[in-house]
Amino acid sequence: MNDKQDLQTVAVNYGVASNKEFGAIIPPLYLSSTYEMEEFGKKGAYDYGRSGNPNRSLLAEALAKLEGGARSVITSSGMAAVDLVLALLEPGDMVVAPHDCYGGTYRLLSARAAKKHIDVTFINFYEDHFESRLPKSIKLFLIETPTNPLLRLIDIAKISGLAKRYGAWLAVDNTFLSPALQRPLSFGADFAIHSTTKLINGHSDVVGGAVICADAAHHEKLLWWANCTGVTGSPFDSYLTLRGLRTLHVRANQQQATASFLAGQISEKNLAKIYYPGLTSHADHALMLRQQQGPGFMLSFEMAGGISAVKKFLKKLHIIKLAQSLGGTESLICHPATMTHAAMPEAVRHQAGITDGLLRLSVGLEAPQDLLQDLLAGFSE
Ligand code: PLP
Repeated sequence: MNDKQDLQTVAVNYGVASNKEFGAIIPPLYLSSTYEMEEFGKKGAYDYGRSGNPNRSLLAEALAKLEGGARSVITSSGMAAVDLVLALLEPGDMVVAPHDCYGGTYRLLSARAAKKHIDVTFINFYEDHFESRLPKSIKLFLIETPTNPLLRLIDIAKISGLAKRYGAWLAVDNTFLSPALQRPLSFGADFAIHSTTKLINGHSDVVGGAVICADAAHHEKLLWWANCTGVTGSPFDSYLTLRGLRTLHVRANQQQATASFLAGQISEKNLAKIYYPGLTSHADHALMLRQQQGPGFMLSFEMAGGISAVKKFLKKLHIIKLAQSLGGTESLICHPATMTHAAMPEAVRHQAGITDGLLRLSVGLEAPQDLLQDLLAGFSE
C-alpha cells in the first residue's frame, strides 16, 4: 500500500481485494473459534479466536494506520479499551483524569481506586494553574477531548509535554471525534482510545472499542492482557466496524456540517445557552482550530427551566430520539444528568457543570432543515 494515501482512501480501501482464495473484494467474515495447527507444535497465523482473528486483525491495522500508531488492540467495548490501558499500571500508580470525564470512565477509575488497584486524581483542566494541583507523582494522564458532555477541549500537546516531565504516559479518549477529525498521537499522546460503538462504526449496531499505541512494545503488553482477560472484540463486530469505517470520513464531514448549522441557528436565535467548539464564543474555539479538523458533530445546550423544561422539550421532538449513545447515522439526544453521567455523584456532576437542564445532541445524517424544524418545535412554547 502507498504510505502517502489520504486517510480517507485508507479507510475506504483497507483490506479490500486482499482475499487470495476467491478474490472476494470485501474481506470474508471468519467466525471460526479455532484454527488447525500447521503441524505438531507449529501453529499458523491464528490458533484460537480469543487470541487472534483475521477480521479483528484487519480492523486493528486499519485503525492503527488512521491514528498514525504502531499497532492497535480491538476490544469488546470502549470501557474494555479504557480498562486495558489501566492494565499497564501497578498498585500505587497515579492516574490523572478530567473531573468531567465520561461517567463510565469516572466509575471505572473510582472503582479501581477503591480496590487499591490504582490511585486516581480528578482534575479540572480548565482552571488557571491546574498544574499546581497535580499530584507529585503521576504514571498516566487519561484525558478526553472534547469532553462529554460539555465539549470543553484539552490541549493534547501541552499535556503530552507535562506527561513527559512526570515520566508519565498520555492516553487520549478520541471517541468524540475519531481519527477523521483529530489524531492525538500526532500531538505526542502514547495511546488513542476509542469506543468504536460511536462514530467509527457509526451505525449504532455494535458495541466495541480500540486502543491504538504509538509504541509497539506497549501493544505487545496490551494484546497479552486482552487475551489473558478475554476482552478482545468479536469477529462479527470487527467485520461490521470495518464496514462502518469505510464511510467514516464522509459521515464525519456531513454530520459536522449539520452540527455547525444547527449550533449557529440555536445561537443566532438565542434559543438556549449552547456549547459547541465551532462557535467563536466557545471558550476553546482557538484550540479547536489548532488541534481538530473541525468542531465535530456533538453539541450541548442548557434548558433554563431545568428538568421540567427538559421533559417538555423532549416530548415535542419527532425525529431526534432520546437515547444514550452518539455518532450514529441517526440523531440522538441525551440527558446526561440522568443517563450517561448518572454514575457520577450529584455533587461532582454539578461541580463539573453538568446541570439538570443540560441536553447533549449527537447530530446524524438527516436533512439539516428537518433537524432544525424538530429542534424549533422542541423550543416552541
Ligand atoms: N469513552 C467515551 C468518551 C464514551 O462516550 C463512552 C460511551 O459513551 C465510552 C468511552 C465507553 O464506550 P462503550 O459504551 O463502548 O463501552
